[in-house]
Amino acid sequence: MLNETHDPKLRSWVQSANAAGSDFPIQNLPHGVFRRRGEAEFRGGVAIGDDILDLRAALAAGVFNGAAEDAARLAAGATLNELMAAGPAAWSALRLALSRALRDGAEAREKLAACLVPQAEAEFGLPATIGDFTDFFTSWHHMINAGKVLAPPGAPPLPNFKWLPMAYHGRSSSIEVSGAPLRRPVGQTRIPGETEIRFGPAQWLDHEVELGIFVGPGNRRGTSIPIDEAESHLFGVCLLNDWSARDIQAWEAMPLGPFLAKNFLTTISPWVVTMEALAPFRAPLQRGEGDPESFAYLKPARADAELALDIELEAWLEPAEGGATRISRSNYRDAFWGPAQLVAHHTSNGCNLRPGDLMGTGTQSGDKDGEKGSMVETSEGGKRPFPLKEGGSRRFLEDGDTLILRGHCERPGFVRIGFGECRGMVLPAG
Ligand code: MN
Repeated sequence: MLNETHDPKLRSWVQSANAAGSDFPIQNLPHGVFRRRGEAEFRGGVAIGDDILDLRAALAAGVFNGAAEDAARLAAGATLNELMAAGPAAWSALRLALSRALRDGAEAREKLAACLVPQAEAEFGLPATIGDFTDFFTSWHHMINAGKVLAPPGAPPLPNFKWLPMAYHGRSSSIEVSGAPLRRPVGQTRIPGETEIRFGPAQWLDHEVELGIFVGPGNRRGTSIPIDEAESHLFGVCLLNDWSARDIQAWEAMPLGPFLAKNFLTTISPWVVTMEALAPFRAPLQRGEGDPESFAYLKPARADAELALDIELEAWLEPAEGGATRISRSNYRDAFWGPAQLVAHHTSNGCNLRPGDLMGTGTQSGDKDGEKGSMVETSEGGKRPFPLKEGGSRRFLEDGDTLILRGHCERPGFVRIGFGECRGMVLPAG
């Protein structure tokens, strides 16, 4: 799976891409859609250092040919759905051509230097028209931590959690790209442990640290995708904040699951890091003694297949007065279910996935303090407020707070890659 595009010695003629700690070195090359501020239409681009390579301009400059040129046309549009539909051979051909054109000494340098747009001058759009959004539940620790607050007192861990990747169907039309403000939702609420039912602004407004996974080619209804082919249907990964109103959720969610507690906004980062860029950062799934043996449709043929992804995730809270505090650090490596299993399970009944569909991993949490990917876990349902660096404390999100997700991958022998940011500010209820 590794090739010349992962070579840690590669450096780019775009100098900012070579800076230590850059999210977008030449080994990353994530896709997104952008426009210069004030322009009407979005177009496709690839992040390199502090810049964006404008693929429409690069095509016009004539630097691509063959399969890479065909793929670049699909990647240059106002959404990436057609690129996602094209499959791994097309994605890979374009990545190789971009890597060769952006590295030190490339002949294309002169033509491409004029095709760079500073990220600081850009606005971003949703990377795809998202037909369907499914949010999974892959972190055992999140289930245990959140269950202590939201499940009935004394309830045992969910018996199906280790048998199947649970999920609910979310709402795709309220997914927005980083920067979209969040209006505090109003609804019917009941605080867990209390009896009063109210209608008004949610008091237990929370975030969820997740990854979003974009579907590639997908399958026809009535067919299923075998686990060993599942990864060829995964285009790439972004950051995802599944904003959640816990006091709405606690009252409404039994028995049909989340509804108005989660469909008022979901925020994703603008850059989609491809599965090929993530190849050096694979990890084995966490399984313990006594965990049930997975059914064959969830188990790859190779026992040593590394289905998990080692992606470090951080949540930062910046109050209106400024000064951000890191409130959690967790890793998708610790999840119970990997992306290939989400695809195999989702399609096991013949359900169709389409290019640009989005799958959330569910909140990613560890079992220690500082590893909890939502505030209902960190504050234990408001009982343990946590301090902010510049003073004050939080139980849940307050008006004026900005929540920022960041993510990166790091492994000795490889160059660190990052995901950029996924941010949103809470506005008072209207
Ligand atoms: Mn979620």
